[in-house]
Amino acid sequence: MRLVLPAELQQLLVGETKAALPHECCGLLIGAHASDCIEVSDIAISDNLADDPSQSFEIDMRLRLRFQKELRGTSKSVIGHYHSHPNGRVGLSGKDKAQAWEDQMVWLVIAAGEETFILSADLYDAAAQTFQSLVIAVEQG
Ligand SMILES: [Zn+2]
Repeated sequence: MRLVLPAELQQLLVGETKAALPHECCGLLIGAHASDCIEVSDIAISDNLADDPSQSFEIDMRLRLRFQKELRGTSKSVIGHYHSHPNGRVGLSGKDKAQAWEDQMVWLVIAAGEETFILSADLYDAAAQTFQSLVIAVEQG
């Protein structure tokens, strides 16, 4: 399964990751599930409400509720969320995996390196309690 991400949103995510260092940044992914891919059309930046934002992330639930309300009746919804790893770890940590509960949510992680930033995305299957890796396809605008 592919996760289609517009290039400008990829740049925005990297910019947010840099700006938040040494803390983790986080927010929501807005978009839609298509038959053969998941499309991200927008992101909503959240404050990181975690007690120690250098070690974990917590998205503002009010932001989530606001977007769910705004998107009701449209073809779009909150399809997932993103957060960064200031330590450069690529992909989900054990702690991330332990926090997953919501079915069909995309978990996008931006790993901050010295110069390169590596994005990864996984889709959570709540019934099987497993993650499926997504291929990120960056779409030029
Ligand atoms: Zn993480």
